[in-house]
Amino acid sequence: MPDPERLSAEFSRLAAIASPSRREGEIARYLAERFTKLGAEVVFDDAEAAVGGESGNLIASFAGTGKEGPPLMLSVHMDTVEPADGVEPLLRDGVFTSAGNTILGSDDKSGIAEIIEALETVREEKIPHVPIEVVVTVCEEIGLQGAKHLDFSRLSSGRGLALDTSGVDLLIHRAPCANKLRVEITGIEAHAGIAPEQGISAIEVAARGIAAMSLGRIDEETTANIGTIHGGQATNIVSRSVILEGEARSHDPAKLDRQTEHMIACFREAARQKERIIDGKPRQALVRCDVSADYPRMAVAREAPVVALVEEATARLGRSVDVRAAGGGSDANVYNAHGIETVILGTGMTDVHTVNESVRVTDMVRVAELLVEIIRLA
Ligand SMILES: [Zn+2]
Repeated sequence: MPDPERLSAEFSRLAAIASPSRREGEIARYLAERFTKLGAEVVFDDAEAAVGGESGNLIASFAGTGKEGPPLMLSVHMDTVEPADGVEPLLRDGVFTSAGNTILGSDDKSGIAEIIEALETVREEKIPHVPIEVVVTVCEEIGLQGAKHLDFSRLSSGRGLALDTSGVDLLIHRAPCANKLRVEITGIEAHAGIAPEQGISAIEVAARGIAAMSLGRIDEETTANIGTIHGGQATNIVSRSVILEGEARSHDPAKLDRQTEHMIACFREAARQKERIIDGKPRQALVRCDVSADYPRMAVAREAPVVALVEEATARLGRSVDVRAAGGGSDANVYNAHGIETVILGTGMTDVHTVNESVRVTDMVRVAELLVEIIRLA
């Protein structure tokens, strides 16, 4: 059985080590020592160069004991959002919070503590298991950078669990793919009072384009947003430049492409509508669109063996698991794209990415119990 006190002490230690993205050096050293003590062979990949941070991704491999079978990956991330310096974890009435001026970092240190506690229990009770690969990524919070640069040649798992969402006994098997858009509209500058006929307003082109655009919830699988807009110089200048940033997400890659093309087409059409003859020549604003794939989709079948594994483990504990789709990407999207069939499990964390973040000790214990059961059955 997982030990609530040992689990709480581990969580407190982890929370007190500041680890915002790219500054994971200290927590990486701590985790390397911790997993080595648990009996793992620990290596780091070279991702720190690519992400510009202090540490690469940590891979802790535990040999199988008395059980044949394909290895299982357990994944978490070691970085947090800000403000992360000087976290003081407080435990009151069985609930961890920060002292108030910082995040707590239960995203994702609750998951790390739960995995450590589960592995402690498995070792103590001598539970036979298949090989386990624990992957602790860096820079998850800044665009899944660690996972995107993970050295997959060091892993042999074909299935995995990423502990990185709210809720307990909650499993996420589908998540969208996403594109990021950056649109630069270049109009023609002119004096707004003396010679407006000589100008083409980039702000007007941008406004027309956005007004014609389908945004928000497009359908049950697809969303789109224009998130930032910057431009213009002064009230008396027909604006020359506007830069917009936006995104589209969908569980269906074809719909993602369609929505992305629609957004670009709206800006191009707006530029055409604002065409005018200047000095005898037809002129248009220039529309430059950069689209980058943000993350690939995650679509693990409802009947997949890894989902069945979690269902069986929860059933053995007399519990049941809620299987759902999510609206955002995580490291699991990247694992699935690399052929590791990975679902996401809730860690019990709540109000993440705020200073009001919290996690209940009994919830962390429940997740650790579930992990022990999963490891037993895997
Ligand atoms: Zn997270």
